[in-house]
Amino acid sequence: MAWLSALGRMAFVIALAAVIGGLYGYPLQAIILALLAIILFWQAQMNRVQTWLQDPEQVPPDVYGIWGELSARIYLHQRNHKKVQKRLEASLDHLHDSFSSMRDGVIMVDDQGVIEWSNQSVEPLLGLRHPEDTGQTLTNLVREPVFNEYFIAGDFSHPLQFVTIANSSLHLRIEVTHFGKGERLLFVRDVSEAVRMEQMRRDFVANVSHELRTPLTVITGYLDTFKSNVDQLPQPFVKPVAQMGQQAQRMENLLKDLLWLSRIESEKREAKREQVDVGALLREIAEEVGTAYPDCQLDLDIDTDIAILGDYQELYSAASNLVNNAIKYAGDSGLVKVSWSRNQAGALLAVEDNGPGIDQVHIPRLTERFYRVDNSRSTQTGGTGLGLAIVKHVAQAHGAHLTITSELGSGTSFTLAFPSGG
Ligand code: ADP
Repeated sequence: MAWLSALGRMAFVIALAAVIGGLYGYPLQAIILALLAIILFWQAQMNRVQTWLQDPEQVPPDVYGIWGELSARIYLHQRNHKKVQKRLEASLDHLHDSFSSMRDGVIMVDDQGVIEWSNQSVEPLLGLRHPEDTGQTLTNLVREPVFNEYFIAGDFSHPLQFVTIANSSLHLRIEVTHFGKGERLLFVRDVSEAVRMEQMRRDFVANVSHELRTPLTVITGYLDTFKSNVDQLPQPFVKPVAQMGQQAQRMENLLKDLLWLSRIESEKREAKREQVDVGALLREIAEEVGTAYPDCQLDLDIDTDIAILGDYQELYSAASNLVNNAIKYAGDSGLVKVSWSRNQAGALLAVEDNGPGIDQVHIPRLTERFYRVDNSRSTQTGGTGLGLAIVKHVAQAHGAHLTITSELGSGTSFTLAFPSGG
């Protein structure tokens, strides 16, 4: 141990001074002199170390004893620290390089919302200059109110997709993740092409459905005429005409649902925001299904007068799809309970039945277009396979959340949870 040998050396010098001083009859003075010399020596060593510490990049001074050891250790620590720093800098450079070469825009923002770093790709997307805008507050530079609102609100559980004000054909998708101490990493992606393709697909479906309607109207018109004059039809044609009528009706329902779905999906549509009395809406549906299915057992439980902001027609189609499904799939002995109630977060519209239920494996995919649990069951009930897709879109447009719970053999429950003020 360095301090023990330093202490030993000090004791040896003091003892030597005491012996020599004793020989001359001045032991105490000799000890004091020795102590002074030691202090002076230490002071000189300390000065050299202190001078070196002002620029510790230099090789440490050749100092003696405990001070030598101290400076050697500091030097070693510093060299290790420098190595780690270099390694970190290299990884950071590597990270910056890979972010720089990305086609997506990347921005690193500190806890105060100040840009710490951004790549070149962000320039044409959000109009930030690289690297000049580093050090500026992000929301002061981006002139997109939707983005600024999203960024300031701080809820990044879902990505933001919006069309920019600066360029109406530029659609951006922004994902934000937290890292470090309140810092945020933003990925900005140009999704204009994907949006355009999606729009083309929707337009195509809408146009085909629209074009098919006219010939179908003519066909059903003639079929209706045949059906109303069934006694004049030759016997072999009676059954085929009836079947053609059923299939034409299915096609009509399908086209109606396809057109409705493409209408509510359309980004260009003007969604109405009116006060909708959901209780009255459910009563209307109950009356309608009562006429269509006189034997059905429908229990309506409206225990709140909450009205929500939304589009009456859309909400009607969603609720009507759920109620009609419950009646169709629960069968003749089925019991269907429809309720509209208040909960802490807002209001709940629940449709429950005691029908055959749905296996858990199907539930995540139920709202996909044309997804069917059982093809034969759906064909018998005349479903289009679009009902739950419509429900999902209406829910999204109204900020509502759709929950499906079911157990095979025990029935199914569909719940739409509307936020208060939604
Ligand atoms: P469909 O027109 O075929 O009814 P939907 O989109 O409305 O299409 O429903 C998708 C599938 O979900 C249906 O084919 C059916 O298998 C299942 N399903 C929907 N509602 C119920 C229900 N209440 N009970 C059992 N199965 C249901």
